[in-house]
Amino acid sequence: MKNKIVCYFSAAQSEQPIIYRLVKNYDLIVNILKADINPLKQGYLVMELEGSKEKYKEGLVFLKNLGVIVEPLSEKVVWHDDLCIQCGACASFCPTEALAIDRETMLVSFDDTKCVLCSMCLECCPTRAIILHFDVREAV
Ligand code: SF4
Ligand code: SF4
Repeated sequence: MKNKIVCYFSAAQSEQPIIYRLVKNYDLIVNILKADINPLKQGYLVMELEGSKEKYKEGLVFLKNLGVIVEPLSEKVVWHDDLCIQCGACASFCPTEALAIDRETMLVSFDDTKCVLCSMCLECCPTRAIILHFDVREAV
């Protein structure tokens, strides 16, 4: 199974080789998507974990037993229209017409209610007007 999670660390927890143990002891593939540690060494990691269902669950128990707060990742696509140069590239990739071109005005618009988070648009934008926003809270 593959899942994205957010882990919130205290200073003591951030000193530990948590990623190493997830890989070595639980045979998980860890893909770190975003990390932020403040000067007090508190912070969070957004990561994708992949492995067998059993090992995935054991890995989460390991994190929770360390006192790491684990939450499912909430993410959304955000379109910055001020950065958009109306090239139309994203609309040709978007399978749900969340990003679409109005045929009368030829302007691109974004309807987040239609977005299925497929990520097809993220790489094609020349100005990075479309980004993936991870919904994370302040560090513990
Ligand atoms: S993530 Fe997928 S569905 Fe959402 S706007 Fe981009 S291409 Fe469209
Ligand atoms: S690819 Fe980027 S710049 Fe081009 S229309 Fe889409 S959001 Fe705008």
